[in-house]
Amino acid sequence: MHDVVIIGGGPAGLTAGIFAVKRKLNALVLEAGEPGGQLLYAFWIENYPGFGKIEGKELAKRFVGHASDAGVQIKKEEVHSIEKRGGNFVVKTSDAEYEAKSVVIASGAKCRNLGICGENEYMGKGISFSANCDVQNFKGRKVAVIGGGDSALKAAIFCTQFASEVYLIHRRNEFRAEESLQAELKKSNVRLVLNMAPKEFKGDASLESILLEDVNSKQTTELQVDGVFVYVGNTPTSSLASKLGVELDEKCFIKVDSMQRTNVPGVFAAGDITGGILQVIAACGEGAVAAVKAYEYVKLQKA
Ligand code: NAP
Repeated sequence: MHDVVIIGGGPAGLTAGIFAVKRKLNALVLEAGEPGGQLLYAFWIENYPGFGKIEGKELAKRFVGHASDAGVQIKKEEVHSIEKRGGNFVVKTSDAEYEAKSVVIASGAKCRNLGICGENEYMGKGISFSANCDVQNFKGRKVAVIGGGDSALKAAIFCTQFASEVYLIHRRNEFRAEESLQAELKKSNVRLVLNMAPKEFKGDASLESILLEDVNSKQTTELQVDGVFVYVGNTPTSSLASKLGVELDEKCFIKVDSMQRTNVPGVFAAGDITGGILQVIAACGEGAVAAVKAYEYVKLQKA
């Protein structure tokens, strides 16, 4: 029996783990992939106090090291279901079943796809969700980044170090990315393709071009590229929570109160899965609050 099972090993889950073990809770973090979450795909972070500018992978490594040193048990297992059993919860993975007095859901959000023709066909054959991991495959070649948020601008700027030409395709002529990134973009040699919506990915064995539609004139043009990085936002991974009866908002993020409590007593949520500003520092803060509240919940059940 665990006091708390934490689902997700990103910044929120690892912080929840650290706070839980410091309170002597028997805590387990379950993570399907490598611990570190979205940080593993982040180019650089420059708004996490105390670190100045740091690579996402490096910050992830430090989080995991800190959690392990603190005694957080992290298992690489994918969670398939969370069920209620009496006053407790049963978390099932492909390998095992864990009983817990409380649960912190910190499973984050995954990259949203465009849902256009050719996207599935050329995924991994020219299309990727991670410029950080895959741009090395396009050294000296033409790439495009799709999107207009922080992620897309960072990716485009990063790609200029490797690719011969970098296009940033955005469906409007204004970016939602933060001002400092927009200023950096202006200084870079990224070529802007604005007011253009991607309609289709084309190619043969691998991706060769993108069909784009002018959002005003509806005219289409084809842009020849070797690689495309899609950064059009995130979708929360909240289906397990929903099946447990946890309330979601209209965008499928988990609804929490200011203490990270969901509508199901004993179930807390933290990090990108709760929506909001989707920043590392916010995820860590939410993870800390969730663990403290899980501790109080467990103690109250014992009393
Ligand atoms: P985002 O802010 O949601 O931006 C998604 C972008 O994709 C938007 O520009 C959107 O266009 C565009 N888009 C969405 N659907 C599209 C479609 N079907 N076709 C074409 N374009 C489409 O996503 P994000 O950049 O991943 O950022 C997510 C959150 O993480 C934000 O809160 C961001 O601040 C945070 N973040 C922060 C950092 C950091 O270092 N501080 C880094 C990465 C992410 P519209 O603008 O027209 O809607």
